[in-house]
Order: sequence, then C-alpha cells, then structure tokens
Amino acid sequence: MTDWKFRGNRELKTASAFSIARVIGDVKTNLDQSDERPIIPLSIGDPSIFSCFRTAQVAEDAVVDALRSANFNGYAPKGGALQPRRSLAEYLSSNLPYKLSPDDVYVTVGAKQAIEVVLSALRRPDANILLPKPGYPAYEALSVMNHLQVRHFDLVQEKNWEVDLNGVQALADDKTVAMVIINPGNPCGNVYTRDHLKEIAETARRLGILVIADEAYAHLTFGSNPFVPMGLFGNIAPVLTLGSLSKRWMVPGWRIGWIARSDPDGIFEKQGIVDCIRRSLITNTEPATFIQAALPQILEKTTDDFFVKAVNVLRKDADMCYERLKKIPCFTCLQKPQGSLFLMVKLDMSQLQDINDDMDFCSKLAKEESVILLPGFVLRMKNWVRVTFGIEPAALEDGLARVKAFCLRHAATSKC
Ligand SMILES: *Cc1c(COP(=O)(O)O)cnc(C)c1O
Repeated sequence: MTDWKFRGNRELKTASAFSIARVIGDVKTNLDQSDERPIIPLSIGDPSIFSCFRTAQVAEDAVVDALRSANFNGYAPKGGALQPRRSLAEYLSSNLPYKLSPDDVYVTVGAKQAIEVVLSALRRPDANILLPKPGYPAYEALSVMNHLQVRHFDLVQEKNWEVDLNGVQALADDKTVAMVIINPGNPCGNVYTRDHLKEIAETARRLGILVIADEAYAHLTFGSNPFVPMGLFGNIAPVLTLGSLSKRWMVPGWRIGWIARSDPDGIFEKQGIVDCIRRSLITNTEPATFIQAALPQILEKTTDDFFVKAVNVLRKDADMCYERLKKIPCFTCLQKPQGSLFLMVKLDMSQLQDINDDMDFCSKLAKEESVILLPGFVLRMKNWVRVTFGIEPAALEDGLARVKAFCLRHAATSKC
C-alpha cells in the first residue's frame, strides 16, 4: 500500500467558513423549484444584473476601444502601468488636501486583491489585526491565510454604527499592526462623519498602527453625511485606502481595483511596507491589460449624470427598504442607510414561531417566498440578517412584500 504524502490544506477550511458566497449557496439549496415567481436576491451586492444600474456608456466604450486597439494584448507591468496609476492618483486626489503621485497608487484585481496584498504585506509572527464587527468576511478569511490573529471591535448601532474606540484601545497590544474601517459601511449602510474619522486616526496614532480604509462604496451616499475619504487624515496615522470600480461603476466582474497610500510623512516607506506591497504584487497576478488601459478614460470621462442617476435609484431603494422593514414587528432596524447597498436588521426571535435562528429564517424564507437574505452569523451577528437594497425598485418592492408576508405567517402573536 502506498502511503500518499499529500492532503488538502486545512487552513482553507477555516478560511472559507467566512465566505458570504458559501453561506448564500447554502441558503439557496432551500429554494422551491416549483415556485414560479422570480427569485429576489436581497443577499449579495451586485446591482449590475439590473438594467437601471447598467454602467456608463463611456466606460463600456473605453474597454471596447482599448481591446480593439490591439495594443493591450501583452503582459501588464506589475502594480499597474504608469498611465492608469497616474489617472487613479488624479481621481483619488480630487478630495484630498495634497496630491497623490502615481507611485502612491497600485492597480489590483478588484478591491478583494487589494485586501490580499495589504494583509500579506503585514504578515509577521504573532501579529494581530483589528476588524469591525459586523464587517466584511473576506478580511477574516484572508487574515487566516496570512496568519494574522483577528480581534473584533464593535460598531455601535445606537451611534450610527460608529467604531467603539474605547473597545479598540482595549483590544490592541504591542502586536497589533492595523485596524480596518469600511466606509461607507458594508453591512450597516453607515457613512462616518469627518469628526469620527479623525478620532479613528487619532486612536490609530496613539496605538502606533495603520488604518486600512476600505472605500469600496466611496461616493455611494444618499443621506445627510457626505463621503469623506480617510486619506484626509494620513498626516495623523498612515492610511492604505482600498477601492475599485466594482460598486460605483457597477461592474464587479471587470475586476479592477486599487491601493492608495496616504502617508505624507513617509512612515510606510520607513517601516518597509512599500517594499512589501511591491513584492506582494510581484508574486500576485495583475488585472487584464485592456481594463487597465481603459481606466483613464473611465475615470476622466464618466459624467455626473451617470452617478447621480444611480445614487437617486439607491436613495429611493434605501428609503423604501427602511420604511417597509421598520414596520415589521419582529424586525429592529434603527437607522435609514446613508450609503453602500446594505442595512442590518435584528430579528426578535420571541415574536417568531417555528424559526430557530437567522439561518433558519433565511432558509425558510428562501423556501416559502423565493427571497434570499444573508444570515448575520457569517458576519458574527447571530439572529440578525443583512438586506441588500441595491436592486431594481420594482423587484425590491416585491421582495419586501414577500418578507412581510413571511413574517406575518410565522408571527408568534397575533400582533406581529
Ligand atoms: C465588494 C467589496 C470588496 C471587494 O470589491 P471587489 O472590487 O469586487 O473585489 C471589498 N470590500 C468591501 C467592503 C466590499 O463590499
């Protein structure tokens, strides 16, 4: 008998436990194939499938032109060609008090690879990283793969999901390297004020850690707080900003994103982070060349009417979602979302019968109403659910009506 020496990597099992796609896959196994109504996906943030969120024509044209030119069929330079980096630096500098240079910017395969690259650059024996709860599970998964110990700080619902900065202070020790903030927020739909972002930077400075600012939803705001980039406070604590075209341009399949350094004092250079990001990019793969080549045109030529139209639909969606959900007695939903594509809802289990927990709620909802929600446990929020409102308004209305019917059918008291 041969003694086979190879076996599967156990770490992948731990890492993929934090996968939204996997949990949604599990929820979908409950769908009733005989239900003839359309499935309403209120689980994953991908508006691109709805015609009202089709990307800007100039963006499509830019990709077609780049492809047709036949100039971009070769390998791309590591970390991105100069032209796309120059145009990204310009785009990201537009609301900063100083100018980013093309050398401060790296092109990545979506914001997801930006997370991968940054975490791999920070990996060090015994290092730990502070992540928001609730947050974005890819950080947990990639921390596992990079041997970074994860510690969670709370976002406080009663304070518009602001960071519990005392909690951050209490969690950190001399092995803490970074904290992650996601603004506008996935999954809470919060948009932080300038004052709060400044407090975050001051806390990071006190702790001697860097801020990873996930701005995947930059500019997707429709409430009273405007989007303020974390890079504004790079002079207080060094900031790595992560972003992509995926959400603002509604093209997540194009897989193009970036990392930007906001660090006027050159701390990243001194701490060896710049070198490590470069090396990490060398060992990684790069985005398709024709998408990179299209980037300058996309960033420079997309006009406000595209953004305004998309944000107006999202504002209407967010209002409708909040107004309808808050009237369902077994739900608690304190704030109207101000940005991103999501909100979090707390389930009051005492008002529901024959539902055990958030996963059970989502499974039965899928089975009975063909509506998909994300159970909160994957975001470490047991008995909460995440709702995506970034879909076509008529479909959202239909989905919310079905959620309500489901809750009424499973109400524990006649009141619910
Ligand atoms: C979608 C998302 C990402 C990943 O973005 P891609 O560009 O699709 O890779 C990163 N962070 C957050 C918070 C997201 O919601």
